[in-house]
Amino acid sequence: MEGEVELACDGLQALRHVSRMEVVTEAKAPQFDLLAATRSVCRKCPVTLKFRHVKGHQDDNFYADLDEWASLNIEMDDGAKEHWLRSKDARTRQQYIFGEPWPFWVAGRKVTKEVPEIIVDHIDGMTIREYWESKKRFGNGSIQEVHWGAVGKAMESAGRARRHWVVKQASGFCATGKMMQRWNQRKTAKCPRCAVAVEDELHVWMCKGEGVETVWEESIQKLGQWMLKQKTLPNLAAIICDRLSAWRNQAGPTVTVSPFLGLRGTVHAQDQVGWRALLEGCPVQGWAEVQQRYFEWINNRRSGERWLVALIQKLWEVAWDMWDHRNKVLHDKDNTLLSEQRQSEIAEEFAVGSASVTQEAKILFRPGLEAILAGSEAMQTAWLVRIRRARTRFKERQEEDQLGFRAERQAMAGWLRGSSSR
Ligand SMILES: [Zn+2]
Repeated sequence: MEGEVELACDGLQALRHVSRMEVVTEAKAPQFDLLAATRSVCRKCPVTLKFRHVKGHQDDNFYADLDEWASLNIEMDDGAKEHWLRSKDARTRQQYIFGEPWPFWVAGRKVTKEVPEIIVDHIDGMTIREYWESKKRFGNGSIQEVHWGAVGKAMESAGRARRHWVVKQASGFCATGKMMQRWNQRKTAKCPRCAVAVEDELHVWMCKGEGVETVWEESIQKLGQWMLKQKTLPNLAAIICDRLSAWRNQAGPTVTVSPFLGLRGTVHAQDQVGWRALLEGCPVQGWAEVQQRYFEWINNRRSGERWLVALIQKLWEVAWDMWDHRNKVLHDKDNTLLSEQRQSEIAEEFAVGSASVTQEAKILFRPGLEAILAGSEAMQTAWLVRIRRARTRFKERQEEDQLGFRAERQAMAGWLRGSSSR
């Protein structure tokens, strides 16, 4: 069989992928399956194919002069729309596409885009979730109840810095007292805001130090106002604020759950998974559906899921406010935690002594420990920086010397070997 067929399409990108074999269709492209199938059919086709781009929707302009290609395009568009209307509610969607080289399924779902991400998530995501579940991170609830789809979208649309912080905080790798001590960056694991001996990631939320309550109250109030502005079901908004505070104060909730369809079950599920999980951006499945129902009820056309994605980001803001406040207290010039730390580091440098600093830095020890400790914060910090640099340089010089000797020794040995074989 031979001959030539000319194919026209109004999608430039689709045309580019289908007509030019040197263009690589990446497995993350949307409708990857359709593109791959079309390419494979085109390649096998014995007829010569020619491609043409035709501008879509030319009938939008009533007075436009339509050529044959434009008319065919409009006819095709109408046909596709009709087919879509007929099949969109059908129970079984078309799962296999003619010519498709390798349909790809994960957990009973056909994957049509973002193939690498979905594979990684399926393999690693499960392991990570199981790990957190075994650590009782989701209370008595199951990790499957969390709306991971919304969490993912909230992560995607968050800024880079926020994303890093959320991951660090949720995994317990923020620079809390506990971690700073473990990393040998600080002598104590003490909380900078209260007298608790070990400040871990949970304590950042629970701290009862001076002023913390006000920061929490204000953030929760901001969250509540935002929810009402977003036309959130009022009882739902009140419940979220109330239960978050109840969890933080380790007290019982005070707001009664209304009989709005699905709300009770959702609150119960979140009770099981925990309100800490919610604060850290892990809502259960039901929230989006309940809110969607409310949107429909008040004739608002917004989507419950998009509302949930935005809510997650607002919850992170509440959490961030707590962390930010803690940092401000820690770095306040009157805070004793860091100044005690600095002073003990200076004392330690004096104990190690001036033998292992460079010659020119020995003078830094001359005023004596007491005089340095009586100095200003800026002076002490600068002193520590200079001493540390001098110790590193001293060590480097020593190593250089040793390396130098070794190199000379090797050269000598090599020369001797050479001369003996001569
Ligand atoms: Zn504290």
